[in-house]
Amino acid sequence: MSAHHWIDVAVQTPAHSPIGGLLSYRSPFSVHLGQLVRVPLGKREVLGVVWALRDAAPAEMPESAVRDVLGVLEGLAPLDSAWRQLVQFSAQYYQRSLGEVALAALPPQLRDLTSEQLARRLKKQNPDRAVHTTPGPALSEEQDTVLAQMASGTGPFLLFGSTGSGKTEVYLQAVERMLATDPQAQALLMVPEINLTPQLEERVRARFGSEAVVSMHSGMTPAQRLKGWLAAHAGHARIVLGTRMAIFASMPHLKLIVVDEEHDPSYKQQEGARYSARDLAVYRGRLQNAPVLLASATPSLESWHHSRPADAEDLGGRYQRLLMPSRIGKALLPKVRRVDMNKQPRRAVLSTQLVAAIQERVERGEQCMLLLNRRGYAPVLHCADCGWKSECKHCSAFRVFHKIDRTLRCHHCGLTERVPRACPECGNADIAPIGRGTEQLEEHLGELLAHVLRPDGTPVRIARIDADSTRLKGALESQLAQVHAGEVDVLVGTQMIAKGHDFRRITLVAAINPDTALFSSDFRAPERLFALLMQAAGRAGRDAAQSATSEMWVQTFHPTHALFEALKKHDYPAFAASELAERTAADLPPISHQALLRADARTQEAAQGLLNAAREALEAQLSADPSTADLVLQVSVYSAVPMSMQRVADVERAQMLLESPSRMALQKMLWHLHSVLHQVRSQPENKGVIRWLVDVDPQAI
Ligand code: ADP
Ligand code: ZN
Ligand code: ZN
Repeated sequence: MSAHHWIDVAVQTPAHSPIGGLLSYRSPFSVHLGQLVRVPLGKREVLGVVWALRDAAPAEMPESAVRDVLGVLEGLAPLDSAWRQLVQFSAQYYQRSLGEVALAALPPQLRDLTSEQLARRLKKQNPDRAVHTTPGPALSEEQDTVLAQMASGTGPFLLFGSTGSGKTEVYLQAVERMLATDPQAQALLMVPEINLTPQLEERVRARFGSEAVVSMHSGMTPAQRLKGWLAAHAGHARIVLGTRMAIFASMPHLKLIVVDEEHDPSYKQQEGARYSARDLAVYRGRLQNAPVLLASATPSLESWHHSRPADAEDLGGRYQRLLMPSRIGKALLPKVRRVDMNKQPRRAVLSTQLVAAIQERVERGEQCMLLLNRRGYAPVLHCADCGWKSECKHCSAFRVFHKIDRTLRCHHCGLTERVPRACPECGNADIAPIGRGTEQLEEHLGELLAHVLRPDGTPVRIARIDADSTRLKGALESQLAQVHAGEVDVLVGTQMIAKGHDFRRITLVAAINPDTALFSSDFRAPERLFALLMQAAGRAGRDAAQSATSEMWVQTFHPTHALFEALKKHDYPAFAASELAERTAADLPPISHQALLRADARTQEAAQGLLNAAREALEAQLSADPSTADLVLQVSVYSAVPMSMQRVADVERAQMLLESPSRMALQKMLWHLHSVLHQVRSQPENKGVIRWLVDVDPQAI
């Protein structure tokens, strides 16, 4: 027997590296699977995860070329097989290298610490696993039923519950019951964006004691992230509360996964490995035998479809659907009012009825919330004489006019310039904004409501919350706190304010201009709009005492559109049924499965050239081999087209869609595509290509 141990180690490698991120090393000491080690890579020393133990030296290279492991991270238990399998699956499914996914799933600081520094961190850990549970409220009948169904089933569960039906309370009680039955058990609670819901974090900490809970999200410092990760990995943290990245937390005793607002697009990572944390939650739950609870008032059509009940022709979906239709305390959902903008004066931003309704609410001391999905003052600046528009010279987009600092800003590449005094083309001094953003809406409201007084005789207070107003750290928190404290009467903002907040005093919510999403080229736009409007409506009348008079206003040029009809009845199932019928007729997800191949290049021709070359090579290769010829029939590969945002920061972007009724066939196709792309990319005619990437189950097309 040799005194050496031969091992394969996952290390950080470039995205599409052909070695897949596993490298062979020799270890002078014995190591375990999943152990964290330091290894040499080129001239550097890097962190790696022991991925496989070998019986003998790798045959592909001379023994003398195999380098030695430099050391083991002492004091850290190996990453368990479930974690490794999750990483392996993610890398494979989302078409990235194993090493990239594995290393991205670890806290960055782990790479840089010396053994002494790590030992010090480990010594500071608090191994107290006790949870201190403050009792929650007595459950409603619906909450009780849902928890009983969870206890007697295996899941995955889809909790379809109205806004304000007490879903959060269900999560907390489910966690509490599970922690009580097993002194080691851990729960993972996932939320779309933590900074939007600081209330939830407080609620969880107040319920279980701060010691038992760790947070994981991108707003944390590297030191905080390491500390939280270590606590979860050691099993000390009983509850991990986090955004999508938390799906990769090492939790050896994971026994429950909750995904709040499961429909939210921010569960999909938009760079690197483009994983869906919601989908991985379902995979991980099955892997670790942990029930998974997905929850929403407007579930994704995917989850809705997966939880369809069985009928005569259909065995039904594999998720169990749980229902909580009523709001807590018998609070009613707001009355939905549609304003036909065809009957308003041309160019009216706010209808006269809506302004009157806002005034009435303010005078009664109630709060209103106005949603407009465009920040800045106006989306375009325009010269009526020569037709000049404030285009961005680097992107296929207009620069937005921000009046506050008199700039034109590109929201895609960031290019910012002072507003010109006169038209840069013809010198006309009279250049004017077209369209409206939140900044202008705030200004406009200020004028319309200038004479309006609150019950105590003081003037109305208007505030705006969007990406501009919240740029500084802590700004969002303090602005939200003002709304909660009743220091704001009318709140204007983007969708940022529609999500999740438990505002108690808002009785009127209005969507100012939601129509654009009705006619978008993205087939998911209506689903997004419906979810957003239902969410927004859910911010009104959360206090039962005021719910009977609460209202959701929709200003639209298409008041009889089916989407608004369903919204008026708060009827998500009706909306979902009609959307699913359309998706079925058009063979779109969730009936079919999609992947996008994207290429970026200096020219559009080069970007499309790579994609089309890959497509031809792929079809030629597959058709030539009888064992793969079938795939060509099962997966449609469309021609390359420019992306809808065709140029960003001087980079031309093109995409190619792959679609199949079979997820498996699509996966096989992507596997073949991967190797084809490596060949095609290295051909001289594709030199101009900057990068390519694959997006599996893309959220936008
Ligand atoms: P959702 O997550 O469905 O929007 P929440 O869980 O936030 O709803 O509940 C809405 C409000 O009702 C919260 O203020 C919450 O504290 C309260 N609540 C939830 N469950 C109960 C209950 N069983 N008894 C009394 N109040 C409750
Ligand atoms: Zn001009
Ligand atoms: Zn730009």
